[in-house]
Amino acid sequence: GGVGAAHILDALDPEQREVASTLNGPLCVLAGAGTGKTRAITHRIAYGVHCGVYRPQQVLAVTFTARAAGEMRSRLRDLGVPGVQARTFHAAALRQLGYFWPQVFGGRPPEILEYKARLVAEAANRLRLQVDRAAVRDLSAEVEWSKVSLLTAEAYPAAAQRQNRGEPGGLAPEAVARLITVYEEVKADRGVIDFEDVLLLTAGLVEEYPEVATAVRSQYRHFVVDEYQDVSALQHRLLQQWLGDRQELCVVGDPSQTIYSFTGASPQYLLGFTRAYPQAQVVKLVRDYRSTPQVVDLANRLLAPRGGASGARRGGVAPLELIAQREPGPKPKLSVYEDDVAEAGAVARAVLDLVESGVRPREIAVLFRTNAQSESLEQALTEVGMAYVLKGGERFFARKEVRDALMLLRGARAAGDTGEPLGEQVRAVLATSGWSVRPPSASGAVRERWESLQALASLADEIADKRPGAGMTDLVNELDERASAQHAPTVEGVTLASLHAAKGLEWDAVFLVGLSEGLMPITFAEGWEAVEEERRLLYVGITRAREHLRLSWSRARTPGARATRSPSRFLDGLFPEAPREVREGRSRAAGARKSAKPALCRVCGGSLGSAAEKKIGRCSTCPSTYDEALFERLRTWRLATASEASVPAYVVFTDAT
Ligand code: ATP
Ligand code: MG
Repeated sequence: GGVGAAHILDALDPEQREVASTLNGPLCVLAGAGTGKTRAITHRIAYGVHCGVYRPQQVLAVTFTARAAGEMRSRLRDLGVPGVQARTFHAAALRQLGYFWPQVFGGRPPEILEYKARLVAEAANRLRLQVDRAAVRDLSAEVEWSKVSLLTAEAYPAAAQRQNRGEPGGLAPEAVARLITVYEEVKADRGVIDFEDVLLLTAGLVEEYPEVATAVRSQYRHFVVDEYQDVSALQHRLLQQWLGDRQELCVVGDPSQTIYSFTGASPQYLLGFTRAYPQAQVVKLVRDYRSTPQVVDLANRLLAPRGGASGARRGGVAPLELIAQREPGPKPKLSVYEDDVAEAGAVARAVLDLVESGVRPREIAVLFRTNAQSESLEQALTEVGMAYVLKGGERFFARKEVRDALMLLRGARAAGDTGEPLGEQVRAVLATSGWSVRPPSASGAVRERWESLQALASLADEIADKRPGAGMTDLVNELDERASAQHAPTVEGVTLASLHAAKGLEWDAVFLVGLSEGLMPITFAEGWEAVEEERRLLYVGITRAREHLRLSWSRARTPGARATRSPSRFLDGLFPEAPREVREGRSRAAGARKSAKPALCRVCGGSLGSAAEKKIGRCSTCPSTYDEALFERLRTWRLATASEASVPAYVVFTDAT
């Protein structure tokens, strides 16, 4: 009723209220991080329902992740509005495909292929291309990119060159194009479809079957899309099909948070919204409700134009300055460490200090650029007894290449001691699997795999350093121990996540680690545009923090190694005073001893009593069976590889019947 409706608007500022009370599209909200975009659209839906303008079942809210969709549904329930469809593009399309397929073609839709790799490998085989597992992963991502970008195989080479795609999996663009064609053939032979096909086929059904279009369009009348800056050509196409010639569309986004262009997303749809819809209403939000003024100031300065036209060129629009609304908080800190181990140890201790000062573990996040960086952090947190949840990536010891390497090392124990330093022995063993000390020139999965093994070799150096005389057997035992310690199930803990996986989320305390050249921006970010995407990624990281923000980097990868790194170019001028130089004990053990705090339960965060509890890392009364990381992995894999797609010419509907 009217009273409830007015109440909903009370929780908003004037601009947000304008968003919430503009119930008809087209509407575009352009605003920076933490300004309440997601909140404004959630309230808009609730307001529309309360006013009787929307029927809940006729609203489709599209979010970027399944978790965001769940959050939106629960917020809507809290606002007294159950029954609204909040879904990812993928989930919404999947439902429609499942519903309409039987009506149009009879029978059930084809099986959906969760991982492309096997079929990509088979396609490569048919073409007699020599590709290893990492190359297959990169090529799978490239096939996805082409589909998400609505490219046919014929159009791929020119587009790939324009977009600096390089040589995925070591193949020239023409070879990739052939692979794309054959991949589609292999897929058709098997009678399966992939994630992109789910969107392609749904868009195709609406486009080509008037009865489907009528049904879909009478079901959904109001569309809301969050994080619109990272929409792909394929998602955009599907959205257009859903809409038909209607304009009941509300989009919200922040061009400064475009961080998925490499996987086929494009801010062009957000930036071109008023061109596509000349009668669109545009609302800008500038008040930041999430972060302290100190955090907001840092974010503003990271994006501020610095001499010349570079600022104005960023993302094609001048960044929106955020105006902080919260009370002042602690100053963001920048620290420099001698090596990754010292950095991770210090972060783990700082996390512990925060927890002891009353911050809940689930309100703390440690964010990094590449998944290989998680190993030292996982280990350091394990050593101080702090539970963690890893999002958007596999736990270090669960990665295939690391498990394979451990098998090799186990086999190598029999060879006995050569007298050679342990690190060298390990490198020699890894070399038998094709690994080399030099980093590969390729990016993507090839690089990640190399980095995981490199991290393993560094770990061997470190263990040898700590325990002179340790042999291969000791090493393998220690690695096994670490692997099992890191595998304990976790319900509540500190979040470890890649910057990509942190989008849209917020925590009281955020640690951004590894802010050195080569990691941030990442080595393979070549060219101005790629580097700017890295800057936006750091912007996303900074703006996740409500209160505590700590940035850090280290001079060397491993203890004792030459200090070859330099600070990230993005830090230039961000911290007027010199960073805190930390020179302290190198080893993790020293750090752990120094803290000498009671171990905490991985599940509830309380301190542990008996030795038995300490051994399993949780209270004997806490549950042990829930591994959130597993669910996250499946979900974020789909996101990180940008699996949502469109309708190229090579999808032939009649083939599938
Ligand atoms: P991002 O760009 O990171 O996705 P966003 O613009 O979607 O951010 P929200 O997540 O909606 O921002 O809001 C950020 C935080 O500020 C949330 O905790 C939200 O509850 C709070 N917030 C937003 N608007 C208001 C308001 N008018 N009054 C109080 N708190 C608010
Ligand atoms: Mg948001």
